[in-house]
Amino acid sequence: MAEQATPTTGREWQLAARPQGWPTPADFTLVEAPVQQPGPGQILVRNAFLSVDPYMRGRMNDVKSYVPPFAIGAAMDGGAVGYVIASEAEGFEVGDAVLHGLGWREYATVDAARTVKVDPQLAPLSFYLGVLGMPGLTAYAGLLDVASFKEGDTVFVSGAAGAVGSLVGQIARLKGAKRVIGSAGSADKVARLVEDYGFDAAFNYKDGPVLAQLAEAAPDGIDVYFDNVGGDHLEAAISLLNVNGRATLCGAIAQYNETNPPVGPRNLALVIGKRLRLQGMLVGDHAARQQQFVAEMAGWLRDGTLTYDETVVEGVENTADAFIGLLRGANTGKMVVKL
Ligand code: NDP
Repeated sequence: MAEQATPTTGREWQLAARPQGWPTPADFTLVEAPVQQPGPGQILVRNAFLSVDPYMRGRMNDVKSYVPPFAIGAAMDGGAVGYVIASEAEGFEVGDAVLHGLGWREYATVDAARTVKVDPQLAPLSFYLGVLGMPGLTAYAGLLDVASFKEGDTVFVSGAAGAVGSLVGQIARLKGAKRVIGSAGSADKVARLVEDYGFDAAFNYKDGPVLAQLAEAAPDGIDVYFDNVGGDHLEAAISLLNVNGRATLCGAIAQYNETNPPVGPRNLALVIGKRLRLQGMLVGDHAARQQQFVAEMAGWLRDGTLTYDETVVEGVENTADAFIGLLRGANTGKMVVKL
């Protein structure tokens, strides 16, 4: 059954040009496009929150990867949550809240089978794009499974004030880390890590060499490194990882906009003598953890032991700016766009 009047057009973002280096607003266009009415098995969703995520930068390049590149002149996509406003799918009613993959637009016509119903009574809708969604699962599985975290480990996480990093540090603390260290790109973020997220030490990587700052923060070395950044952070972590240390290679944001990426860690040979394990991860491989992850995260949110921040940009017309801002560090916690 459809709501009385469903929209016939809506705004969507298209990629106008492939960014060379840093993206600029001119690489994106906001267009008014027809809204397709749902066919059998489909629902029409009014998006309430759009996700902007660092991996989208990779999709702006014309290269083969684990997700296909965005096409020039076509609607972009990504995580979104919203409300069903028309349904041709059994089990989906007008007013239901759903998580789906057709973001970067106001209205989405999606196959109901490719959506997940979410409960806005349990948690604010936007949380399903962050702490209870993809970044949350990345942090949880990336720390506990990929890095084989164990109680008593000293953990270092880069990008520590962001969506994934802020959760990695807090999960490590809640699971009994000996010491949790984070790096971030401003004095305010560093203060937030220590004062509100319970990190034992934190530093601003813009203040000086990462290696020297990390060595000071981790006098006994580190057992686990959760890498969101790559580059000098990864090199410093390899130097300071203890014997049998483990690193989750989750992201390398320091090089996403570089046209001449730096040559990889110069100290890689240390991996041999210290018997280190550096393990790449993709969150999509960890769906089996979903139920346990949501139950545990929701519990920590409820009892207040986990702090979760969002940076909310208002208006679909500001989505490209929100994305560019994310790459520049304008966010603390998860960057989302509220429509
Ligand atoms: P964040 O919320 O952490 O936002 C990105 C942050 O990166 C910015 O806020 C900025 O913070 C920081 N940053 C930007 N440039 C640099 C730089 N040159 N050096 C150090 N930090 C920088 O994003 P997410 O939490 O969503 O993602 C974090 C990482 O995890 C990304 O690398 C992403 O690609 C990766 N990821 C990987 C997944 C996987 O399955 N492998 C899944 C999800 C995310 P600051 O102010 O501190 O510089």
